[in-house]
Amino acid sequence: MREHKIVVLKGDGIGPEIVDEALKVLDAAGEKFGFKMQYDEQLMGGCAIDATGVPLPEETVTACKAADCVFLGAVGGPKWDTQPGNNRPEAGLLGIRGALGLYANLRPATIFAPLKSASPIKDSIIGDSMDILIVRELTGGIYFGERGTSVENGVEVAYDTEKYSVPEIQRIARTAFEMAMKRNKKLTSVDKANVLDSSRLWRKTVIELSKEYPEVELSHMYVDNCAMQLVRNPKQFDVIVTSNIFGDILSDEASMISGSIGMLASASLAEGKFGLYEPIHGSAPDIAGQGIANPLATILSAAMMLRYSLDEPAAADAIEAAVNTVLTTARTPDIYEEGFKKVSTSQMGDLVAANL
Ligand code: NAD
Repeated sequence: MREHKIVVLKGDGIGPEIVDEALKVLDAAGEKFGFKMQYDEQLMGGCAIDATGVPLPEETVTACKAADCVFLGAVGGPKWDTQPGNNRPEAGLLGIRGALGLYANLRPATIFAPLKSASPIKDSIIGDSMDILIVRELTGGIYFGERGTSVENGVEVAYDTEKYSVPEIQRIARTAFEMAMKRNKKLTSVDKANVLDSSRLWRKTVIELSKEYPEVELSHMYVDNCAMQLVRNPKQFDVIVTSNIFGDILSDEASMISGSIGMLASASLAEGKFGLYEPIHGSAPDIAGQGIANPLATILSAAMMLRYSLDEPAAADAIEAAVNTVLTTARTPDIYEEGFKKVSTSQMGDLVAANL
């Protein structure tokens, strides 16, 4: 029997609740499709600070490097907001992305047909469905650039630096071109080349690389225009490639087009097949422990993990199809509509597992 060894980082807030449902679905998929999951549970985020004093213990990094891939819930919460910047739960996230070389963040923004009415965008704009893939650079740019705080002439100042090298841009752009080749062969590169030098280098490098992908229709868009176009005419997009900070913001915006932040999965890929899989939402401390969190983004992240890292595409397809089926009858409170059965976090996990 095929065995897959993954590190599980449940994290904080709703993290443990939603990850448990995804593991339930993974185990059920394994039984059906003939593989066995092995879970190595490790600490990251606030729970790691409580247990060890730091958000990303060395032991966690070592375990992740030895695994086939990593599965994460979410980290953070008000309890750790007073920690210094480099010891906050989110520092664990940035740290693990760097330590594992996770340079490409894949964020699908999809509308499941039964959830169409949950989208705040008019039917006439989204049509029957929407399927955008945002490819966000994850280990460079302003979140990793030189930063500092000081007092100048008695005034407190702070700065952060956006910096990209040609190899960094080539690597993420190549991932995006490859994804576009597997989809509708349309790539939009998003930058702010009218203002930023780093964006001008981004655009020049993407254009240069495009010569290797003559079949892909490449266009460029300023980030402010893209923010507008995502709401005005989202169907014009197939694959979007952009920097770390622009991708962070645009993918959250795209998630709202889908109707709920609780529905969207993500993959962060390194070279080869290694990746880290997590829902795009945070630890939702406001609803943690109430059994009402939507576990579908996490379950769909498990499907992405099966597809991109574990070579189990049939199981991945089955999970996505089961989610679509379950959504025709059952809803967690965040996506609830009259006429549907309102279910808890664990009931939603049970239903997806039962519909595989
Ligand atoms: P959030 O995504 O946690 O929550 C935003 C809103 O969406 C909340 O009202 C929440 O209840 C709701 N929500 C999120 N996920 C949901 C789900 N699965 N089901 C139902 N409702 C859901 O964002 P936030 O409130 O800005 O951040 C909370 C904490 O999470 C912060 O500490 C933040 O730093 C952290 N965070 C972590 C990650 C991560 O681990 N990757 C990502 C974003 C934020």
